[in-house]
Amino acid sequence: MAAQHTSGLQALLVSSGFEGEVYAHEPMARHTSYHLGGPARFFVQVASLRALSALIEACRDEQEPWLVIGKGSNLLVADSGFEGVVITLGHDFKFCRFDEDALRFVAGAGLSLAHVVQDAFKRGVAGLEFAVGTPGTVGGAVRMNAGSRDEWIGSRVVSVTVYSPTQGLKRLAGSQIAWSYRETGFSDEEVILECELAVEASLPAYVRGRMEGVLARRKRTQPLQYPSCGSVFKNPPARSAGALIDGLGLKGLRHGGAMVSPLHANFIVNMGNARAADVYGLIRHVQTKVKEAYGIELQPEVKFLGFA
Ligand SMILES: Cc1cc2nc3c(=O)[nH]c(=O)nc-3n(C[C@H](O)[C@H](O)[C@H](O)COP(=O)(O)OP(=O)(O)OC[C@H]3O[C@@H](n4cnc5c(N)ncnc54)[C@H](O)[C@@H]3O)c2cc1C
Repeated sequence: MAAQHTSGLQALLVSSGFEGEVYAHEPMARHTSYHLGGPARFFVQVASLRALSALIEACRDEQEPWLVIGKGSNLLVADSGFEGVVITLGHDFKFCRFDEDALRFVAGAGLSLAHVVQDAFKRGVAGLEFAVGTPGTVGGAVRMNAGSRDEWIGSRVVSVTVYSPTQGLKRLAGSQIAWSYRETGFSDEEVILECELAVEASLPAYVRGRMEGVLARRKRTQPLQYPSCGSVFKNPPARSAGALIDGLGLKGLRHGGAMVSPLHANFIVNMGNARAADVYGLIRHVQTKVKEAYGIELQPEVKFLGFA
């Protein structure tokens, strides 16, 4: 019988001791809020740190591209997919504890941010109201410094535990991390595993009122009935990306099945039949028009995967 040649990566993924779920040629459309994107060579949900580190090590040994994602709510994946390993954080990374004395949540990076926000709501503790309605995981929110223009998660972070294949486990104080508008100082090889978030004692009615206000505003101003990635572009200093795009009359502009939302010009939505290339083309078109009209280079907030 001819010898079977499997790589170390494949051997790891099929081994009975591997703590994770493995999907080959998995359509990324199943894992992004845009519902777009072709197959990842492997899509792996790791259940433990041991599985995560072994998987990253195998990828590095074979020079196989890899990345960790959360819920793909800020991600546009190419129609051709991604020739590499997409990793998500499963069982051991989906916990949430609350320390009543210190007024801190400790949350796993694979947990949805909504879970923590909901827990804060139930306990009537304040500080995370800005995050209500933001899709995605705790890890994705920390990596993106998610929030509004004026308030972001970094201002609540007491510490973050990260894993890096070259440095192992590290616990960083919030003050050691470079936080800015939708930017953080994490490198591409640092995987966020958990974080500690500070909140304040408050009155449940106050927390409820603020969250209801944020949700009502979202419903009023965002096209939530269509798949999207939220705001496509960062706001340039002292300007609103949405207002710049709206000022050019681009609301309602379509490329295939993608459209600049008539409700919010900084949202490009999937009308149901879009390809990732339609969204990508519209993003580039809007960037060009804004540059021509105002001389401003809009920076995408959305992350791209699999595009040349
Ligand atoms: C309807 C809608 C509304 C939105 N509203 C807001 C808003 O108000 N404010 C806002 O900031 N954003 C908003 N977003 C964008 C998005 O929800 C946030 O950026 C969110 O924090 C992304 O989390 P995620 O888990 O989906 O990350 P993903 O989209 O999966 O990943 C985003 C980036 O983070 C990296 N990443 C994810 N997890 C980890 C990890 N554990 N370790 C290291 N890197 C990681 C990924 O590699 C990628 O580069 C909105 C999106 C939608 C669809």
